Amino acid sequence: MSEFLPFSRPSIDEATIASVAETLRSGWITSGPKVQEFEKQLSDYFGGRLVRTFNSGTCTMEIALRIAGIGQGDEVITTPISWVATANVILEIGATPVFADVDPVTRNIDLDKVEAAITPRTKAIIPVYLAGKPVDMDRLYKIAAKHKLRLVEDAAQAIGSTWQGKPIGSFGDFVSFSFQANKNITTSEGGCLVLNNPEEAALAEKYRLQGVTRSGYDGIEVDVLGGKFNMTDIAAAIGLGQFAQLNVITAQRRKLARHYFATLGKDFEAQTGAQLPPADFENTNWHLFQIVLPERITRADFMARMKDKNIGIGYHYAPIHLFKLYRALGFKEGMFPIAERVGRQIVSLPMFAAMNESDVERMCAEMLAVLKN
Ligand SMILES: *Cc1c(COP(=O)(O)O)cnc(C)c1O
Repeated sequence: MSEFLPFSRPSIDEATIASVAETLRSGWITSGPKVQEFEKQLSDYFGGRLVRTFNSGTCTMEIALRIAGIGQGDEVITTPISWVATANVILEIGATPVFADVDPVTRNIDLDKVEAAITPRTKAIIPVYLAGKPVDMDRLYKIAAKHKLRLVEDAAQAIGSTWQGKPIGSFGDFVSFSFQANKNITTSEGGCLVLNNPEEAALAEKYRLQGVTRSGYDGIEVDVLGGKFNMTDIAAAIGLGQFAQLNVITAQRRKLARHYFATLGKDFEAQTGAQLPPADFENTNWHLFQIVLPERITRADFMARMKDKNIGIGYHYAPIHLFKLYRALGFKEGMFPIAERVGRQIVSLPMFAAMNESDVERMCAEMLAVLKN
């Protein structure tokens, strides 16, 4: 039997491993010089915008909402097709999540439905760039400006993606990235937030470390309720090594995505009833390669049959509004029919930078054998 092909696997090079070992030997293993260097390099990449790092891509969004002063009584619009973190952060800060259904082609939040969901209580939108594919950024920011809304972009999957040649994160309002192990570049766990001004950056620093401000040798003051969300130098050492590979990783993923399209051929959808992702090779970083299965096969059956062939298939994502926690808030089946259909049949095929074209061909051949009978 062929070797196991997972849906995702990080690529950590030897230079990165050496740098982590050096950090461990340095005597400074929590937040320190490596974190500062990582934040500086990220800031350069985001066109000089301010960046702060954290220990997840979840707390980044929660902190952005806090900095924006959003809380009880405020509504925040987001998509039902995301990792549950995206909506949980809205509940964490005491605000009300409002879902807008997705576009069946991009599987991202549908901006027409976002506009329809805006009320006088709406304070922010959290769009998600599923699989790294941006939404229409021009229109998104026009909607936000028209209704005076803050944006907390959940760009957890979108490092390396662009909009009209500009990196996601290099423009806009708050932009949140995750460096969790499966993301295009990783720190094992971690995240960063791109902010607008030094006041926001100062608040981010407080929220990530118990609300503490230090001055001089012994000055310490606490004036906001913060938590413990700082990134360690060990994580930042991994991040620096990964960040140096970002362009190579993105290029390899785009090459693999093209090879999926070429191998499956232009009749794949007509022959199988499955739905491919939009063929966007300019903007998307191809964090995931997702197809929507035809209704005649269940996802569990498909995943089991691929597992028999030693291939791991991912599932991103179950519609958030149908989780018990959200049903208890009044959400139910039928509210977001496109998200429910996509969420029932979507699968993530193997896609990671260390894969090669023959892995894509193996995946496609096994999948076609399953879908064509
Ligand atoms: C990974 C991810 C998150 C959460 O990031 P963590 O670093 O795991 O906290 C949030 N939203 C989306 C879309 C993600 O893919």
